[in-house]
Amino acid sequence: MSSIRLLPDRVANQIAAGEVVERPAAVAKELIENSLDAGASRIEIEYRNGGKSYLRVEDDGHGMTADEALLSLERHATSKIREADDLQRITSFGFRGEALPSIASVSRFVMRTRVRGAEGGTEIFVNGGKMIHQKDCGMPEGTSIEVARLFNSVPARRKFLRTDATETAHLCRWARLYAMAHPETAFTLLENGRTIFRSPTCVDLRERLREIFGSGFAEGLIEIESESDDLSLSGLIGKPGVGRSTRQEMIFMVNNRPVDSKALSFALIEAYHTYVPKGRFPPAFLFLRMNPAAVDVNAHPTKREVRFREEGKLRAFVIRSVNDRLREVAANAGFSEAHTPVTSSSTDGSTPAPGFAVPQIDPSLLPNVGGADSKTGGAGEPTGQSFEIPVPEYSLNDEAPSTPSSDGPEGAAGDRDDLTSSWRFLAKLSGDLALFRTTDGLVLMHCRAAVERIRFEDTEEAFAEEASRDGQRLLLPIPLELDSFGSEVLQSHLPSLEKLGFSVEEFGRNFHRIEAAPSWLEPGDAELFLRDLIASAKERGGVAGKALSKDEFIRMLASRESLTGGGFEESEIISLANRLLRCRNPLTCPQGRPTYLEYGHREWENRFGRRF
Ligand code: ADP
Ligand code: MG
Repeated sequence: MSSIRLLPDRVANQIAAGEVVERPAAVAKELIENSLDAGASRIEIEYRNGGKSYLRVEDDGHGMTADEALLSLERHATSKIREADDLQRITSFGFRGEALPSIASVSRFVMRTRVRGAEGGTEIFVNGGKMIHQKDCGMPEGTSIEVARLFNSVPARRKFLRTDATETAHLCRWARLYAMAHPETAFTLLENGRTIFRSPTCVDLRERLREIFGSGFAEGLIEIESESDDLSLSGLIGKPGVGRSTRQEMIFMVNNRPVDSKALSFALIEAYHTYVPKGRFPPAFLFLRMNPAAVDVNAHPTKREVRFREEGKLRAFVIRSVNDRLREVAANAGFSEAHTPVTSSSTDGSTPAPGFAVPQIDPSLLPNVGGADSKTGGAGEPTGQSFEIPVPEYSLNDEAPSTPSSDGPEGAAGDRDDLTSSWRFLAKLSGDLALFRTTDGLVLMHCRAAVERIRFEDTEEAFAEEASRDGQRLLLPIPLELDSFGSEVLQSHLPSLEKLGFSVEEFGRNFHRIEAAPSWLEPGDAELFLRDLIASAKERGGVAGKALSKDEFIRMLASRESLTGGGFEESEIISLANRLLRCRNPLTCPQGRPTYLEYGHREWENRFGRRF
């Protein structure tokens, strides 16, 4: 008959260890956090067999006296909080005071530590929770903790450990996370004495990311910074069109603590809607700051998952901040440093650039901006007024300058004559690709993606503008016979179609008549257009009646194969580039794939290992 009794500390610690340190990576995490809490400017991590047989974390932090070192191994011994209320103000990583005793209870544990300015250090050796010795030792200032034979004394737990490779992967991931969270701290990661990763003190996050992921990756990121009452956000996020195949590079730090949060992940993905393709994930390294009282970090023993008090507000803040930033970047794409407009006569002067100049929009010519100091004789009107946002029209053959264009073609696109140029058409490549030279390097444009983006924005505009409702009435209404599924799809989309300028009358069961079509559509194409719409709804397995959302509808219109037609002529390509750069977001197609890729001189210099 067993009676009720208090568990000895050693057993309690071993049980707690199951929660706090489920695997070597978790031990590393606790030790790294302690080092950071101790103000370390240098942390070295070494492991063998994924940390199962050996793990050492060494820092140059403030260290512990002999008494403190002993006490740190007592359960619930912490220097970081005094009462439960302190949790509301917590800014350190640790506070539970259970990591060290837990780890020491299930391993062969050696701690060496020396307080700054002290003569010598102290060494404590604990084996499976049993104190073996404490003695003086010589060592540099700081703390070194070795954890060997993890879970040797707890075979049940040891069974759950994975292969060396898997445990190593987890360990490296954590080490990387903390390295990202603290660029100002130097990190070294060693496997069996061999350096896996070494990053000295970095000036900022971008430099640290360059160290970890390489410069190509770091160049694909843009800064973000945003603030709203008690929330702030800063860090780096992927440029529009830059997507990764996994979520591994979607990283959130809440008050500098790396956290997993479904709410934050979803917010990020939502903010990137149409900026990265479906199924790809935007890289992001976001540092969120908020009142410590607004987040519960004590929701999980390893503190990896946190709870937010006002999750909805936080979500909205993240979506808005990221979305605003993406839109800003997209809007400036045509005018960024990389495309600083230069007149064709003033390029670099060396070899005359082959090919045509692509006129680039001058911001002063945008509607309502007026006051452009027009240098052309051309149309000679106040260009601010005469400039038109292109109305949807899909013949792509306007303005093909026939001479390398320092003085531009006369007439046709009058108000574009004095546009400076920065993209020079070089060549048409296979697969709808076109190559351009820019002031900063080369641009590879995907013509079809460009068409889709242009149409997408045009169509969106058409939706937005009341004026676009007036389609052209057809002299001869076009009869349209559909099956019953088709009829239902058509009916469900009628309101949207009317907005576009269509007018379709029902004429009998499954019989319709197209009375009017949008002015940008050849009347002869109207029937094809509607049949495409229906086919596409069918493809989606769309039940009739379940109308496409407005966005889906516009996207579908934009990517219609039949309008795109065959290949692209040079003149069309130039006109496309020109129009693409005027889009609100010229960087991605409506599905979020890039419309063009840039290869800058800087990258070549890196690759060639030379400056030019
Ligand atoms: P917690 O971090 O939750 O306080 P731990 O068990 O991880 O609990 O650590 C207990 C205490 O030991 C800490 O509060 C800190 O005072 C001390 N300590 C642990 N690691 C270090 C270190 N690397 N440098 C200095 N002090 C440390
Ligand atoms: Mg701790």
